[in-house]
Amino acid sequence: MLERLIEKLDALSQDFEQKAASVKTEQELQALRVEFLGKKGHLTQFFRHLAELPPEQKPLLGQKVNQLKNQFQKRIQEISDSLQNKAVSAAEIDVTLPGNRPFAGRLHPLMQVLDEIKEIFKGMGFTVEMGPEAETDYYNFEALNIPKDHPSRDLQDTFYLAHNQMLLRTHTSPVQIRTMESRKPPIRIIAPGRCFRNDTPDATHSPMFHQVEGLVVDEGVSFADLKGVLLSFMQKLFGKNTKIRFRPSFFPFTEPSAEYDVSCIMCGGKGCRVCKDTGWLEISGAGMVDPAVFGFVEYDAEKYTGYAFGMGVERIAMLKYQIGDIRMFYENNVRFLTQF
Ligand SMILES: [Zn+2]
Repeated sequence: MLERLIEKLDALSQDFEQKAASVKTEQELQALRVEFLGKKGHLTQFFRHLAELPPEQKPLLGQKVNQLKNQFQKRIQEISDSLQNKAVSAAEIDVTLPGNRPFAGRLHPLMQVLDEIKEIFKGMGFTVEMGPEAETDYYNFEALNIPKDHPSRDLQDTFYLAHNQMLLRTHTSPVQIRTMESRKPPIRIIAPGRCFRNDTPDATHSPMFHQVEGLVVDEGVSFADLKGVLLSFMQKLFGKNTKIRFRPSFFPFTEPSAEYDVSCIMCGGKGCRVCKDTGWLEISGAGMVDPAVFGFVEYDAEKYTGYAFGMGVERIAMLKYQIGDIRMFYENNVRFLTQF
């Protein structure tokens, strides 16, 4: 009796595998499940035979039947998974559907503007110089003719690094000193980079910001050269009708010094909300290098003259893209950043 039942189980297993191999749809799979594992299914019948066997034979047959049941369930699950995978991949190759464009990332708007600034100056024969962001007092202040009691050294403005007596540079001007120390004129550089000041963040202030400074030193360099270079730069950046103007100012490292403005890029100088009806937009400072600064780098102030200028990258980007709040550059909001 037992042997005959085991033979039948083997035959049942073969029958199941044959039928399973030809299943192509969910419906066929469901039918297979009912035929073998259903309440009236082939395998369920064998549990009834168990009752008829002598007690010592029951465990052996019971074990066989359970093994087969697990095997059938596993196989049915495999077929079900593969049918589902086929359904998904069939949907995926529908070539009439629009594709999913992966998000590739892009340059930050500030870096885009900085690249544009660099390219314009490179086109005018300037080289790009870099320097450290943590500076000594000497390079950030003293060599730029900013003595110990000057207000811009104030603890309110400068981040001092207490452990090593250094500070986070408040401008990129130290790069000018480092460059002049390491070479002789002619010098024709721009120094772009991050700067730090202890400002409370608001719509126009950030404790970290980007500057580009320019320095030209040679024989016979004049204020007219400075004006020509800045005008040419602003026209390349904002359009050929852009004008510039200078207003007298003071900086410790230039003499004479000036603030320079560009004609409003929104209204062309007629007056609007952006330029507060003045027709002009303030950019930054410029001037002729103070001979005292040449003293620090051992240049002959009788022989050489030079000019220097600065500009804020955030300020230019805000004007160019009509951005009303400097903090938006640093919030890493993808909806903002993907617009550029
Ligand atoms: Zn305007």
